Amino acid sequence: MRWKKQLLTLTPYQPGKSIESVKRQYKLDQIVKLASNENPFGCSPNVLTELESNQPSFAIYPDGYATSLRESVASFLKVNQDELIFGNGSDNIIQIISRSLLHPGANTVMATPSFSQYKHNAVIEGAEIREIPLLDGQHDLEKMYGAIDDNTNVVWVCSPNNPTGTYVSKNNLISFLDKVPSHVLVVLDEAYYEYVCADDYYDSIELTRNYSNLIVLRTFSKIYGLASLRVGYGIANKEIIKALEPAREPFNVNSFGMVAAQAAILDQEFVQTCKEKNKQGLTQFYHFCEDHKLSYYPSQTNFILIDINADADKGFQFLLEKGYIVRSGKALGFPSSLRITVGSFEQNEGVLKALGVFLAEQPEQLSEN
Ligand SMILES: *Cc1c(COP(=O)(O)O)cnc(C)c1O
Repeated sequence: MRWKKQLLTLTPYQPGKSIESVKRQYKLDQIVKLASNENPFGCSPNVLTELESNQPSFAIYPDGYATSLRESVASFLKVNQDELIFGNGSDNIIQIISRSLLHPGANTVMATPSFSQYKHNAVIEGAEIREIPLLDGQHDLEKMYGAIDDNTNVVWVCSPNNPTGTYVSKNNLISFLDKVPSHVLVVLDEAYYEYVCADDYYDSIELTRNYSNLIVLRTFSKIYGLASLRVGYGIANKEIIKALEPAREPFNVNSFGMVAAQAAILDQEFVQTCKEKNKQGLTQFYHFCEDHKLSYYPSQTNFILIDINADADKGFQFLLEKGYIVRSGKALGFPSSLRITVGSFEQNEGVLKALGVFLAEQPEQLSEN
């Protein structure tokens, strides 16, 4: 067969290890998964109530326009219904954008390390990829702008960025958007938007009104705690949405996901509680890092990237055998760091205690002083 040659260079996405497989392999009965930035507090209790009282039919196709969910999201965000596109997770929107705009001869600009799916989809579409290294863990928007030319079709800005947890400041983003030519779609991936506490964060929805080439991506997988149901969405002006819609599969969002997402967005109290607990959880990690003199990036998300001054895979394996699944930085572009999802207070204490044991067992590092 004549596979697209670029497929041969790709490997499938490596998900975080599953709880069941780790339990079996290491004969543990308690596993804490802090690998995929899922919400440790689950989802709003209203989701279950709603799924019970308003259970969709298994036999009937979902509403391909997500009418009811669309109404709720539009009204919550104060945008028009034709300014939204829904996806089977925001991963699906990334795919739709790539399918719509990338092809051999076009190029796309992104930061590195950043979320893996931008590059993955661009490779499949045969586009040229221009990766601009992070500067102090942050998007180097000046260099990213410098990489744009007549053949650039998409620029990806992940803010807050996965895996560093850092964000682009309002001034930097606006001066970037002011310069980017109008033929370039700027994708602002805000998977962790609801966790952001920084004062100089921007109103991204308002930016979609000022910049006709901007799309914002959000998801129900992170703070809303619905990762398994796969619902994400994009917000942009109606011309962008109209152009993308034909590349969307007709029934890409399932009925259960739509009912759950709608119940979830209507419970903002749950979101606020999770945001607050996450903020407190991050301070547990910050204190630990300061006590152990480890460097880390202050995070606007529900995860933290910590430089453990040791081989990331070794640290990962040590924690795994203690019952904590985290993410090794090795595959993420940070070979001596771990990316750990902020869990509940007890989970954070547990994983940090185990990490402390690991650090104590490491040979002394050569000090810079
Ligand atoms: C988790 C994540 C996504 C994907 O979320 P889904 O909606 O579950 O597909 C997208 N972007 C970033 C940066 C993420 O961390």
